[in-house]
Amino acid sequence: MPELPEVEVSRLGISPHLLGRKVTLLQVRQRQLRWPIPPDTLQVEGEEILSVTRRAKYLLIETAPGWLILHLGMSGSLRVLPTSAPLQKHDHLDLCLDNGQCLRFNDPRRFGACLWQERGDEPHPLLKRLGPEPLTEAFDGSHLYKLSRRRKLAVKNFIMDNQIVVGVGNIYASESLFMAGIDPSKAAGRVSKSCYEKLALAIKQVLARAIEQGGTTLKDFTQADGNPGYFAQQLHVYGRAGQPCLRCEEPIKSLTLGQRNSYYCARCQR
Ligand SMILES: [Zn+2]
Repeated sequence: MPELPEVEVSRLGISPHLLGRKVTLLQVRQRQLRWPIPPDTLQVEGEEILSVTRRAKYLLIETAPGWLILHLGMSGSLRVLPTSAPLQKHDHLDLCLDNGQCLRFNDPRRFGACLWQERGDEPHPLLKRLGPEPLTEAFDGSHLYKLSRRRKLAVKNFIMDNQIVVGVGNIYASESLFMAGIDPSKAAGRVSKSCYEKLALAIKQVLARAIEQGGTTLKDFTQADGNPGYFAQQLHVYGRAGQPCLRCEEPIKSLTLGQRNSYYCARCQR
């Protein structure tokens, strides 16, 4: 599943091809994604693309009347190709540009989304009540500390809550808790301020490193094959149950928290 780093790398990969171009057509081949694509989205036709930004895992393509909101869901990917390039299975959407290229959205499982945010309207329900971006100054240890007081849920579930901080998926939660030496099942309210400072830093490092690694795949966004925006990452604990901890060699353990697999080292994480 594309996580925040993959979405950010997708943004970096597509935006130079989109910025300043005019949209000639939004061609929808499959309207039934996670939600039906609303007719409002057709307002992009004839409009210039002013910016391509990201909020949490949503890509926002800005035009004068509003923003096209794209989400990659479980299996979505984006490419910039000549509009005449042969279609592949699951190519549901083309955002056609005035230079003969298009932004093509492919999504086998159709959990992705293409929605509309009208300029001047209330924020879309999906964009409301989102916590800070992890890679900005608004997110730090004291933010986590303040919001966690008296909370009994596991710290891992706490940092995966989009209202606390956006974009910390299952893999990155496990990895950053390992880096910070915190037991993922510990109650969020019982984690100290200094541990939250380590954790916030670890989250920033883990995400920034993944984005940097993904940077090597930027050229793939204009290739017809492959899976742009998906990349292998070096993981310390995630998916390594039973294998030796890279720090102390104790076997990595796994447990289920909030219905998600969690991986940790019982010796290094307290
Ligand atoms: Zn260890």
